[in-house]
Amino acid sequence: MKLGIVGLPNVGKSTLFNAITNAGAESANYPFCTIDPNVGMVAVPDERLDKLAEMYQPDKKTPAVIEFVDIAGLVKGASKGEGLGNKFLANIRETDAIVHVVRCFDDENVIHVEGSTDPRRDIDIINMELVMADLEMVQRRVEKATKALKGDKKFQHEVDVFTALQKHLDGGNLARTFACDEDDAALIATSDLLTLKPVIYAANTDEAGFADLEHNQYYQQVKAIADAEDSQVLPICAKMEQDIAELEGEEKLMFLEELGVEESGLDRLIKCSYALLGLISFLTYGKDECRAWTIKKGTKAPQAAGKIHSDIERGFIRAEVIAYDDMIACGSVNAAKEKGLLRSEGKEYVVQDGDMVYFRFNV
Ligand code: GDP
Repeated sequence: MKLGIVGLPNVGKSTLFNAITNAGAESANYPFCTIDPNVGMVAVPDERLDKLAEMYQPDKKTPAVIEFVDIAGLVKGASKGEGLGNKFLANIRETDAIVHVVRCFDDENVIHVEGSTDPRRDIDIINMELVMADLEMVQRRVEKATKALKGDKKFQHEVDVFTALQKHLDGGNLARTFACDEDDAALIATSDLLTLKPVIYAANTDEAGFADLEHNQYYQQVKAIADAEDSQVLPICAKMEQDIAELEGEEKLMFLEELGVEESGLDRLIKCSYALLGLISFLTYGKDECRAWTIKKGTKAPQAAGKIHSDIERGFIRAEVIAYDDMIACGSVNAAKEKGLLRSEGKEYVVQDGDMVYFRFNV
């Protein structure tokens, strides 16, 4: 899973991204991770995996990871190709979701590119660039469908839907706020639109602003916008996150306690992304490795197996499943087995969050 971090210059993107890379998952475990300074991997915190590792003392403990891409340089005029704009827009296209960092702090030492702190205006600037890029795509789609219509009447519906969407975007609206039925939404999803992607607005506050969100006008502005378009909002103090990310274990817990928060903003961001994208984790366990794997809610057993290896998906026979909570209630895997809580599941089984799975397959 890949999240793109966007926002105007000087809003705290790099600060947040540095926190992510400091807390970073060990890239040695992830051979697919190319060395790219703009890409950071972060481990998905999972107490269940920690507990399994405690029980099995495996050679390797491998958490699920989320990839963050720092997409700097999105500025006013990007959709017109200014400031390498098109390259950045192409980078955003490759992500599953967007973290839109919004400046919610005042600091005269940190220049604001638009002159003052104004979350509503800033969000608008970025969103309008994305809308403009989408508008161009939708226009091309309408032209293509109109041409195809000459040869085949069935394209009429496509022309109608995309013409209506074009009008919507033209009015400065985001594709994700376009009201339509499920079939039309599926049709629109076949075009890779930027403003269709799910968004988390990360309101980057200073420490004082973070301590009193209710009276933080900047944060409240961001929240109102997020609520109106059914997006997520996450208050975060990027500067503080940088410090937190350098700590681990007990030290981290103590620091968080001092700050009066239960978990780091980064952990909240990860959880929020999981929920936003409808993701869950299943677990594999043993002496050699305990590992968490990310799947979409609703994934069936063979496809979940495919996350581990395509051979396991191809040769899938069955999945031996114990719910993590059942195992904990019994005290061990063996005790759970004795109670008959190990289930043998077939091809149609929908894997659940926290399932401990052992796949049987033909080689
Ligand atoms: P980017 O251009 O969006 O990547 O912004 P940066 O992360 O480079 O941040 C720009 C400047 O703002 C840096 O000097 C940061 O230290 C500062 N900054 C980031 N977050 C905060 C914050 O919460 N409060 C204050 N006062 N400064 C911050």
